[in-house]
Amino acid sequence: MRLSSGQARYVAEIHNQTDMIEALQWAKTQQVPSLMIGGGSNIVWRDEDFPGLLLVNKILGYEVVHEDETSATITIGGGEPWDSVVERSVQAGLSGIEALSLIPGTAGATPIQNVGAYGQEIAQTLVSVEAYDTNSDSFVTIPVGDCSFGYRTSRFKTTDRGRFYICTITLRLTKGNPLPPFYPAVASYVTEHHIEVPTPTDVREAVIAIRSAKLPDPADVPNNGSFFANPIISEAQLAELQASIDPNIPHWPDSGGGEKVPAAWLIERAGLKDYHDPETGMATWANQPLVIINEHARSTADLLSFKQKIVDTVATKFGITLVQEPELLP
Ligand code: NAP
Repeated sequence: MRLSSGQARYVAEIHNQTDMIEALQWAKTQQVPSLMIGGGSNIVWRDEDFPGLLLVNKILGYEVVHEDETSATITIGGGEPWDSVVERSVQAGLSGIEALSLIPGTAGATPIQNVGAYGQEIAQTLVSVEAYDTNSDSFVTIPVGDCSFGYRTSRFKTTDRGRFYICTITLRLTKGNPLPPFYPAVASYVTEHHIEVPTPTDVREAVIAIRSAKLPDPADVPNNGSFFANPIISEAQLAELQASIDPNIPHWPDSGGGEKVPAAWLIERAGLKDYHDPETGMATWANQPLVIINEHARSTADLLSFKQKIVDTVATKFGITLVQEPELLP
């Protein structure tokens, strides 16, 4: 069931840089604010209307701009459906984004939260981003080193939130097979299917099988994917939880320091897996409690109140504050 939420007053589909300049010029003349979205799969739209211009990124393109013996560098339109990009690169025998298969949304959205899954993240293959900078009113190229990438984050969702409208992304992918170690779920698939040397296609098929078994298809059951980021806690806090809650709490060291704990585990242990909330009409998905769905909620306010219930319950039990992953707009 879909929520009825607020509406944007004006909407423009952006197919190229000229569309972008014209639309923003129009918004300036009308003195209305603007914001850009991609496929809309990782946003939560508030109940309030947006009195401005919503730009929808429809910039297409997939161009190999450089190729050598070991790699291919590809510039991709920000409005390209992400999974088609992964499929195409895998079919070309390229490795680097195959574990990011079946993630909904557009290519231009991937740098915003440094999309990652099963051991790959976009920061590892991104060369640069081309974007419209609303501060300088000009197109800029931002190299990967200037994106302030971290675990599922970047400058595009923190210090420079809303400033850049991403037009294209450029990736450098490797010719050849992905190298182990693989995530446990991928490794099990590889073993079960007697695959000796997994190709990018094998890893893509593994990830599609794993995700399809765990997650609802947004085309059938509208959802934002994982609603909460996996929290990173200090080693001291982990030791406390091991002593007070469970010595076997799953955890992984984070490259930026601290220990990453699965948000899904916390929600399940807080008793909220496959939980159907009578007050808000929202529920958590039976196979993956990080996914929340609408059963009979009417508004975004219901969704946000259900989210808060999860955050509060987990905070009371574990002292960890879960952070919402999909962006709240406008
Ligand atoms: P999962 O595979 O059940 O893993 C749960 C947690 O354990 C994640 O924090 C994951 O870290 C960590 N983990 C598992 N195996 C690991 C290993 N070998 N090395 C290091 N860390 C390991 O997670 P899930 O919730 O079903 O999601 C599957 C994948 O999709 C995960 O990689 C998750 O991060 C990703 N995902 C990404 C987004 C996004 O980019 N916005 C949204 C939803 C899910 P990692 O998170 O570092 O993988």
